[in-house]
Amino acid sequence: MARLELSNLHAEVAEGDEKILEGVDLEVESGEIHALMGPNGSGKSTTAKVIAGHPAYEVTEGEVLLHLEDEEFGEDVEIDEDQRTWDLLDLEPNERAALGIFLGFQYPAEIEGVTMTNFLRTALNAKIEEREELFEEEEGEADEDEEEGFESSPMEGDVDEGEVGVAEFQEILQEKMEQLDMDEKFAQRYLNAGFSGGEKKQNEVLQAAILEPSIAVLDEIDSGLDIDRLQDVSNGINALRDEQGTGILQITHYQRILDYVEPDHVHVMLDGQIAKSGGPELAEQLEDKGYDWVREEVYGTA
Ligand code: ADP
Ligand code: MG
Ligand code: MG
Repeated sequence: MARLELSNLHAEVAEGDEKILEGVDLEVESGEIHALMGPNGSGKSTTAKVIAGHPAYEVTEGEVLLHLEDEEFGEDVEIDEDQRTWDLLDLEPNERAALGIFLGFQYPAEIEGVTMTNFLRTALNAKIEEREELFEEEEGEADEDEEEGFESSPMEGDVDEGEVGVAEFQEILQEKMEQLDMDEKFAQRYLNAGFSGGEKKQNEVLQAAILEPSIAVLDEIDSGLDIDRLQDVSNGINALRDEQGTGILQITHYQRILDYVEPDHVHVMLDGQIAKSGGPELAEQLEDKGYDWVREEVYGTA
C-alpha cells in the first residue's frame, strides 16, 4: 500500500519563469482510480511529469510525498519509521520509479535489435537494483544512529538478490500477457518497430503490469484508440488495479474511457489548479456540459 500526496504544488518551466502549476492538491492511494480531467493546456501533463521528475520543470513551492505502508513489502515485513515517507522531489526519476511510481516510459521510437521481452526484463531488473540501493542507503544511515536498522530492513526476504533471469522472466511475462489478454507474439517483436498507436498504449499497460507499481500515472492513454483497442487497454488498466492493487491516476481530456475504467474520484484541472473534485457523476456532467460551467462555478466567470 502506498499513498501519493501532492500538496500546494507549484511548478514552472525550468528554463524561464512561466508558471504552470499554481497550487495542486491531490492524493492517490493504492487501489484507487482517480481521473484527472481538464481542458488542453490546464497543466495535466505537467502534473504527471513533475510527479515523475521531468527535468523540464522546476518545483517552486509545495510537496510531493510518497507514504509507504507495511504491505508494500509483503505481509510480515515492517518498514523502518524513517523509510515510510519519501520526499519525491529529492529523488531522481529512476529512484521514484523504484519506489513504485510509474509513468509511461519515454524511450526512443525504435531500438534496433532489442525485443520487447529484453526491454521489459531490463526495466524490471533496473527497478529491483535501484530499490535495493535506495533501501541499503537508508539502512546505512539508520545504522549510524541505531544498531538494529539492519534486521528490520524491508528488503530482507522480500526481493531476491540480483536479477530476474531469462527463464523466470518468461513466466512472469506470460502470466501478465494472459492477464492483459495480449497476443504472445507481441513479446518477440522489436521495441516499438512498426507498433500501431494502440499497440504502444497496450505496451504501456504491459510495462506497468510487469513493474507492479504502487501508483501508475497514465497520461491520455485513451487518445487515438478505436473502440476495440480502448476496451483492451481499459481491461488492462482495471487488471492493474484488481490484480496488483495499483492506484491509477488516469489523465484524460475525454469522458469516454471512464465508461470502461470507472473512477472512484474525478478531478477537474483549470489553470494549474484542481478546481473541482467529485465522484463519477462529475465526469458525466463534463460530458454533457463541457468545462466552462466549472470555470463559472469556481471563478464566477467563463
Ligand atoms: P495539458 O496536459 O493539461 O494539456 P500541459 O501540462 O501540457 O497541459 O501544459 C500546461 C501549460 O504549460 C500549457 O500552456 C503549455 O503550453 C505550458 N507548457 C507545458 N510544458 C511546457 C514547456 N516545457 N515549455 C513551455 N511551456 C510549457
Ligand atoms: Mg524557472
Ligand atoms: Mg497533456
